[in-house]
Amino acid sequence: MLSVVLPAYNEEKMIQKAADTIDRILSAEQISYEIVFVNDGSKDATWEEIEKAAERNPNVVGVRFSRNFGKEAAMFAGLAEARGDCCAVMDCDLQHPPETLVEMYRLWEQGYEVIEGVKRSRGKESALHRMCAGLFYKMISKAVKIDMSRASDFKLLDRRAVDALLSMPERNVFFRALSSWIGFKTASVEFDVQERTEGESKWSTRSLIQYAIKNIVIFSTAALQFVTCAGAVVFVAAIVLAIQTLVRYFTGHAVEGFTTVILLILIIGSLIMISLGIIGYYIGKIYEEVKGRPRYLIAKRVGKGR
Ligand code: UDP
Ligand code: MG
Repeated sequence: MLSVVLPAYNEEKMIQKAADTIDRILSAEQISYEIVFVNDGSKDATWEEIEKAAERNPNVVGVRFSRNFGKEAAMFAGLAEARGDCCAVMDCDLQHPPETLVEMYRLWEQGYEVIEGVKRSRGKESALHRMCAGLFYKMISKAVKIDMSRASDFKLLDRRAVDALLSMPERNVFFRALSSWIGFKTASVEFDVQERTEGESKWSTRSLIQYAIKNIVIFSTAALQFVTCAGAVVFVAAIVLAIQTLVRYFTGHAVEGFTTVILLILIIGSLIMISLGIIGYYIGKIYEEVKGRPRYLIAKRVGKGR
């Protein structure tokens, strides 16, 4: 059975549409399925719509958060509720085309365990947005060691991969990157991001920036290393300036007393920055330990009695 997890926040107009479209497409392909709606503390009639959808279609189930916890939490809650042998996660505004679900399911039948939906195009965006998104994904890609520039939250995961994700002890999660981090036999499927038909995007520029910063901090310690790099640059500059200052001193061009001051500021400044970098490095390691991620994940075993 395929579980389709749909996080929903203020999507009253989309619930019925999403349930019907997914039902039509999956039934036509004779794929047995359940639809798991997660109402992420919506302020409109989303929950009533989910209840109605569940009455009409026995394959629909729903959970309701006590307040808005955000899409990441909603996706994980959906995965925890899902009973399927494989679980797909998609947006309930149908910007992720449900037709692609079938393609993903077929790949799962062929033995793939993580099937990633990859955006063929990033849709309409301003140049600045594209640049910031590019920088963001570069940092995340480095941390996950997989190209994430066209990644999305549209994925289909085998039960094993779902259980691996759910077993992650960390509280702050970035689904898109974590589901690549866990590994497993991976395939990807390209899709075109659709236009939203009802309602509006929940993302403002401000919330996108917050989202980016949060996820960089969650997923990589690269930001901590900035100080170390800056310290190294200042140190090199300090050496150059120190030589110049000393030359002026010995040729008798220096103002009385200034040589010592310049040298002290340069040396102490760069030492402070480098030590901050070292402390940052340790904090980075402590952070990784605190997250308590498993050291490894086993995908399969072979041999007698295994
Ligand atoms: N969503 C959610 N909780 C939130 C914000 C969004 O569950 O706090 C859901 C939303 O209902 C939708 C999906 O996440 O199914 C993507 O949201 P949206 O369409 O606003 O994002 P965009 O497509 O613009 O990136
Ligand atoms: Mg959307």
